[in-house]
Amino acid sequence: MTKMTGTRLDQNPAPANAPGRKSPRNPVASETARPAVFVGSEIYRQASFGRNHPLAIPRIATVMDLCDSLGWFDGNVFQHSSQADPETLAMFHDPDYIEALRSADNSGCVSRSMRKQYRIGTMENPLFPGVFQRAATAVGGSILAAECSLSGKIAFHPSGGTHHGRPGRASGFCYFNDPVFAILTLLDQGMDRVLYVDLDAHHGDAVQDAFAAEARVFTISIHEQGRWPYSGAVDDRAQGAARNLPVPKGFNDTELAFVIDEAVLPLAQRFAAKALVITCGADALHDDPLSGLSLSNGALWTAVEKLTQASDYSVVLGGGGYNPWSVARCWSGLWARLVGQKIPDRLSGQSQQILNTLECDLVDDDERCDEWLTSITDRPRAGTLRKQVCQTVASVLTN
Ligand SMILES: [Zn+2]
Repeated sequence: MTKMTGTRLDQNPAPANAPGRKSPRNPVASETARPAVFVGSEIYRQASFGRNHPLAIPRIATVMDLCDSLGWFDGNVFQHSSQADPETLAMFHDPDYIEALRSADNSGCVSRSMRKQYRIGTMENPLFPGVFQRAATAVGGSILAAECSLSGKIAFHPSGGTHHGRPGRASGFCYFNDPVFAILTLLDQGMDRVLYVDLDAHHGDAVQDAFAAEARVFTISIHEQGRWPYSGAVDDRAQGAARNLPVPKGFNDTELAFVIDEAVLPLAQRFAAKALVITCGADALHDDPLSGLSLSNGALWTAVEKLTQASDYSVVLGGGGYNPWSVARCWSGLWARLVGQKIPDRLSGQSQQILNTLECDLVDDDERCDEWLTSITDRPRAGTLRKQVCQTVASVLTN
């Protein structure tokens, strides 16, 4: 496959940790493994989103603990993200909104007018202690991830992916928009063609809108049709800066592979991207309670792998995901695949214990599967390639 990367950066000699080079530290790394960095923070161990919110579940801390228990953080691959300061946040967000979220977090309350204007302190985007710090840390993490990617390492930042955050307001559980900052960092560092691919079950609306007038960025979103935020129709191209692939309920592994091979990779080559940012929400998985898509985690890993293999500079973010078991298994397994670690068929008792402590109001007890506690890899969910998916792919390829 032709590399997406262009000319200027390719003229430099390959760094010692260039893509494709096998890590000497990792005896089980696959031939396709390349150096990678995991960006995280201890802040994700703190409770968040209050009660009765789909995101009031452990996600990143569980991924960190699971990866650690499996020995997947050996070799100095973990990087702590710092908090983006207000000046940095103002590169995309409105200063009055930044100050409103900061002061609301400090005071623990929000006025009616602020709630209306900034959509904070609502059921959707609740105030909780540390909300500002947490959201600003996700932005800091995506900036760090983008910087790390420039050395040729794949940068994985699973707490990123807040793709609905708007310049002047919160939206869809997102207070700030860290994918925008990953892209801005790459642009600032001289990457003049940045591809953004959004595999979350929801349309990457605010990232698309942020760069709709920016010729250096091209966005592609695959998402469930008819689901919030109800944007991202197939004919929505943001004046040429975007392609959208709304997909039907039950979207399966076979269909995702088809969409990646026949639409996303050809579009990426047509754009001649130099760098890549992916939002890989875990809410497109079959076991997620808030979407109707039907993917296995392995299908998502393969999709991400194909994209990162086609780009020399890759940032991989998380996103949505509301079943804590499938989130932890999906993003831990994705990290293993990115860094070339072997995923065991059956987890050890210590790793099982980490998954065993999880709880979730959105998943009934009788829906829980034994393999959510004993394994990382889902059973594959191959299926029929439907005509609608083929038509959508054909449609986005037309000029
Ligand atoms: Zn989502």
